[in-house]
Amino acid sequence: MEAARPAGTFVVVGGGIAGVTCAEQLAVNFPAEDILLVTASPVIKAVTNFKQVSKVLEEFDVEEQPSSALENRFPNIKIIESGVKQLKTEEHCILTEDGRELVYKKLCLCAGARPKLICEGNPYVLGIRDTDSAQEFQKQLTKARRVMIVGNGGIALELAYEIEGCEVIWAIKDKAIGNTFFDAGAAEFLTSKLMSKKSEAKIAHRRTIYTVEGGKRETRTQTKADYVGSALGPDWHGGLDLKGTEEFSHSIHIETRCEVKKIYPQEEFKIVKRKPLAFPKDHDQAAPADKEMWPVYVELTNGKIYGCDFLVSATGVTPNIDPFLHGNNFDLGEDGGLRVDDQMRTSLPDVYAAGDICTACWQPSPVWQQMRLWTQARQMGCYAAKCMATASLGHSVDMDFSFELFAHVTKFFNYKVVLLGKYNAQGLGSDHELMLRCTRGQEYIKVVMQNGRMMGAVLIGETDLEETFENLILNQMDLSSYGEDLLDPNIDIEDYFD
Ligand code: FAD
Repeated sequence: MEAARPAGTFVVVGGGIAGVTCAEQLAVNFPAEDILLVTASPVIKAVTNFKQVSKVLEEFDVEEQPSSALENRFPNIKIIESGVKQLKTEEHCILTEDGRELVYKKLCLCAGARPKLICEGNPYVLGIRDTDSAQEFQKQLTKARRVMIVGNGGIALELAYEIEGCEVIWAIKDKAIGNTFFDAGAAEFLTSKLMSKKSEAKIAHRRTIYTVEGGKRETRTQTKADYVGSALGPDWHGGLDLKGTEEFSHSIHIETRCEVKKIYPQEEFKIVKRKPLAFPKDHDQAAPADKEMWPVYVELTNGKIYGCDFLVSATGVTPNIDPFLHGNNFDLGEDGGLRVDDQMRTSLPDVYAAGDICTACWQPSPVWQQMRLWTQARQMGCYAAKCMATASLGHSVDMDFSFELFAHVTKFFNYKVVLLGKYNAQGLGSDHELMLRCTRGQEYIKVVMQNGRMMGAVLIGETDLEETFENLILNQMDLSSYGEDLLDPNIDIEDYFD
């Protein structure tokens, strides 16, 4: 006799911020229906202390919780702790690693992304994605005297600043640090802080809270589908002591405009007889040859070779779509994500996607762009649920206001950093102007103007300008007559536009 299938319902895949937010919103919309959340990780990510800082800017804490906590809050959410190994879109069902077949009426895929490593399967190359990989990194670091960071995004920036007691060689392919977020001016502002960092007092309060049941994390045997945990998020390193074996606090050397050409394990390196460089102590002089032996050697495309204990590959992410592709002809974005339209629908019927796994392919507002960030995972998860709910009632929904303006608040090198709109003049061509105000060590303000309108801004430090600038970008007021007064420190601009 054939086993009874569960009735078709709303199914969400992924226990990260996008999936959990989506399931929560569906549970609110349909209190009388069961919502299934299928996730490969033993814990889920929950948004707590949500604060709407301004119209679009938001801040929240992130808690790693046992799945039962979510089921207790929403009795109509049922969590199935198993990886999805196959999606059968024609039959409207998914197959899980633990042998279940779940029928959906509407499905939302929120399976996140995986780190794009510079090379796979090399034990000396670590990626950081979830709590387990972050803890593995910390473990390796306690035995390390020198590490190499490769990459130039948010994770690399944070690592370069946070690692102590260990020499750090940071290899970036751009000419300045942090090019995902900053232009060369902001990078210079931050570089001086990075280079002069002594052991500053650690921030007392960290935002990410990792709840560990019974004082230890559950360890699991990895399944064939490669158990993937949720991505970490803001202040992911807060609970980790990022300290190597040495006594000094901070020692960093940056190699710009280069990539990794070849990685040699020690034995192989001995045979090739090349000359590695010592850690450059004086930036104006060529480093002497290195006399020490290292577990691994890295040849950069600029010809330099450095030995180190291991490398951290912080070179971006790839949407985690593989488990869902077999037999399904999804339209994919250029970055490899599942293409979604303005109703968060993928190209296949009744399959939605949200968070890091998807590529937003609607006509965006002129001052919004997708970035694989915590805030967007929450916003997309919530909006996808609304779209699924209204579609099941035969309607569509207006695009959520959070997609009107790109807004992100974070911390780099202990500075508050607010990014608004086209903060790096993305896609504006040469037809734009920049206005800058910088007080070394204190604040860096950049606004991007086009045809007299503010299109974006970078605010580093306690500038208190985020709300005013957010409004100016949203209302597209003609600011030509204000000229450079806009950034005059003697004018109280908040008051001016109040
Ligand atoms: P994820 O959080 O990755 O969740 C995916 C979920 O899907 C997981 O629960 C996973 O177990 C599950 N899953 C995967 N495959 C399957 C499967 N086959 N079957 C069932 N379940 C599956 N963003 C910021 O805004 N600010 C930051 O400071 C910041 N720092 C970061 C630091 C690090 C080290 C990393 C890795 C990311 C950081 N991010 C940051 C990015 C942010 O964490 C992500 O954009 C966000 O978490 C994406 O959420 P998500 O729900 O889409 O995916």
